[in-house]
Amino acid sequence: MKVLVLNTGSSSIKYQLFLSDNWHVLAHGMLARIGETESELKFNWTDASGASQSRHAQLSIPTHQAGLDLLIADLREHELLTDVNELAAIGHRVVHGGAYFNRPVVIDDAVIAAIEQMVALAPLHNPGHLVGIRVAQHLFPTVPAVAVFDTAFHQTMLPIAYRYAIPEFLYTEHQIRRYGFHGTSHHYVAKCAALMLGKPLAQCNLITLHLGNGASACAIQGGQCIDTSMGLTPLEGLVMGTRSGDLDPAVVIYLMKNIGLDATAVDQMLNRQSGLLGICGVNDMREIESRAAAGDAQAELAIGMTTHRLKKYIGAYYAELEQVDALVFTGGIGENATGIRHRTCAGLENLGIILDDAANTARELNGARCISTAASPVQVLVIPTNEELEIAQQALAAVSINV
Ligand code: AMP
Repeated sequence: MKVLVLNTGSSSIKYQLFLSDNWHVLAHGMLARIGETESELKFNWTDASGASQSRHAQLSIPTHQAGLDLLIADLREHELLTDVNELAAIGHRVVHGGAYFNRPVVIDDAVIAAIEQMVALAPLHNPGHLVGIRVAQHLFPTVPAVAVFDTAFHQTMLPIAYRYAIPEFLYTEHQIRRYGFHGTSHHYVAKCAALMLGKPLAQCNLITLHLGNGASACAIQGGQCIDTSMGLTPLEGLVMGTRSGDLDPAVVIYLMKNIGLDATAVDQMLNRQSGLLGICGVNDMREIESRAAAGDAQAELAIGMTTHRLKKYIGAYYAELEQVDALVFTGGIGENATGIRHRTCAGLENLGIILDDAANTARELNGARCISTAASPVQVLVIPTNEELEIAQQALAAVSINV
C-alpha cells in the first residue's frame, strides 16, 4: 500500500508519496504560489528503472483543488498511483492541535471542528491545513485521512512547564499556555537516538535541538517531552531565522506605547523581521557563517547570540532532566552547521558534553552519526530529521488502530 503526506499552507502544498512496505519515497514535491498569477509545480519521482526524475513548471494553479488535480494527474501518468484506493492513508501535517490531541487522529467532523477552534492560535497555519483536508476529502473520499499535530508530542508536559505565570482565567477561558511545536521532528529524532543508544526510548533522557529556519529545543525524559522552548506560538525560545525567540514581554508594550506600532506591526516585526535577519540582515546561516569568517561583526554577533541562547536552554534542560544520555542536533542548521555545533558545545565539558572536533567536521559523514568522543558521558548525535516519514508512519499506524 501507499501513504500520501500533505503539508498544506495558505498558498502551497508540499507532498510525499511513500510505499509503506519499505518506506521508499515514490514521489515528492510542491505546488507553490497557489492562487497567484503564476504558480509553480515541482514534481520529483523515481521511474521504473529506479532513476530519479523531475518536472518543474510555471503555470496557473488557481485553487488547492486544481493543485491536487495536477498532482494526481502526474502520479497517474507515471504509474505511481493508478487508483486512489492504493492509498492506505493520507497524513496531513497540522501545526496546532492545542490541548485536544496528544496523538495522531483519523479525521472526522469533530477533529475538523477542533482544528478550526485552534485557528486563533495558529492563524498562519491551521486555515491552510483545513483547506487541504477538505479538498483531499473531496478528491479521495474513500481514503482515511489522519491529522498529525506538531503540538501532540509536547502534550506530556506538566503544568509547571506549560503554564505561564499570568492570571488563571487566561488559561481556563482563553487556553493561553505553552504548547510547543516541531513535535513530529523531536519525536522522530528521539526514536532514532534511542536506536543509536541501544536502549528503549522509554529509558532515554535526551535534549533535542531542531535548528532550522524555525528552531526549538526539547527536554525528553523517559521518552516523553517534559519541556520545550516554543510556547503559545512558535515565537518563543531560541534565536531563529526571522523570529526573535525569548524577549521581555515589556518590549511589546514599549513598541506599542513608545514607537506607535499596532498589534499587526508588532507581530510582523517579531515573527518576520527579527532573529538572525534582524540582527545581521540575512537569515541564511551559510551566508552568516561566511560573512562572520570574513570579519562581519553583525554576522558574528548573530552567531554568538544563537549559540549563547542554545547553551542557556541546554543548561536549563540538563537541570530539569538531572541525567542526560544524548544531545541531538537536527534541522538544516543542526545537521550541517559544524561551527554552530562546535560553539554550542564548547565549554560544556563539565556537563559531560565532549565534542570530537574531527567527527564534528568530517565532510564524508552525512547520515545519523555520533560526534562526541568515546569518553564523553553524554553522546552528541547528529540525526537528519524526516518529518514526512514520521507523519506517514504515524498516519498508517492510526488507520491500523482504527480498523
Ligand atoms: P531548514 O528550515 O531545516 O530547512 O533549515 C534552514 C537553515 O539551515 C538555513 O538557515 C540554512 O542556511 C541552514 N543550512 C542549510 N545547509 C547549511 C550548511 N551546509 N551550513 C550551514 N547552514 C546550513
